[in-house]
Amino acid sequence: MHGSHFLQIRDLQVSYGGSVALRGVSLKVPKGRTVGIIGPNGAGKSTLLAAVAGGVSVLGGTVHFDGRDLTGAKAETIASWGVSLVPEGRHSFGSMTVEENLLVGGYLRYSGTALRNAMETQLQNFPRLRERFRQPAGKLSGGEQQMLVIARALMTQPRLLLLDEPSLGLAPKIVDEVYAILAELRSSLGLTIIVNEQTSRRILQFADQVHVLREGEFRLSSPTSQISSEELASAYFGHQ
Ligand code: ATP
Repeated sequence: MHGSHFLQIRDLQVSYGGSVALRGVSLKVPKGRTVGIIGPNGAGKSTLLAAVAGGVSVLGGTVHFDGRDLTGAKAETIASWGVSLVPEGRHSFGSMTVEENLLVGGYLRYSGTALRNAMETQLQNFPRLRERFRQPAGKLSGGEQQMLVIARALMTQPRLLLLDEPSLGLAPKIVDEVYAILAELRSSLGLTIIVNEQTSRRILQFADQVHVLREGEFRLSSPTSQISSEELASAYFGHQ
């Protein structure tokens, strides 16, 4: 184990060709905690989650999770170790039904009755999906699609859930609903969560710890209970 931390990211660096997206990011997350990452467009938020989940190759640094070294491992392997990423943009399989999307999320881990049971659990978590069970995912509302991709990510029973801008493009009422479900699941499942958002409001309500990422570096890291809006704004916008 690396310290007592469930997730430990050390000096993570990622580049796309010559352009640097992460310039040495370090983060420790104890089990059961929720970490929020906020930052403007292009700050590197998606890259950070992708690097943990094995979706981009890492130039330098390490990622350890639950005693394992994830650095450089394949995305499928990392998923099988209990890490699930909900990417930005609600990418469901639009022509497949809600049911089929959920089955795809779980089939690598379960089959037969266990797969059906895992799906039933998600339908209990997200009752709106039961109402839309046989409909193509592409016909769902934005909020329902966001619920579907979260439910699909939970089909593998992850212990670390990575959420990339879950509120993007959704009406505030729907965002409230999505976050209320996440808060319930977090306590019932003891999930550890990292969530990216462009703005601070939800993060300050939902997360234990907040990090401001700008131009590939953390500019501020603080417990959400101790942060002032002035500090937040100056880290986010780069004011002196
Ligand atoms: P947003 O809020 O817009 O999603 P972000 O904070 O998630 O932004 P990233 O998507 O991680 O930021 O992007 C970080 C930087 O890396 C940006 O400059 C972006 O243009 C660049 N980048 C991201 N993905 C790629 C890619 N596949 N190829 C080349 N450059 C990329």
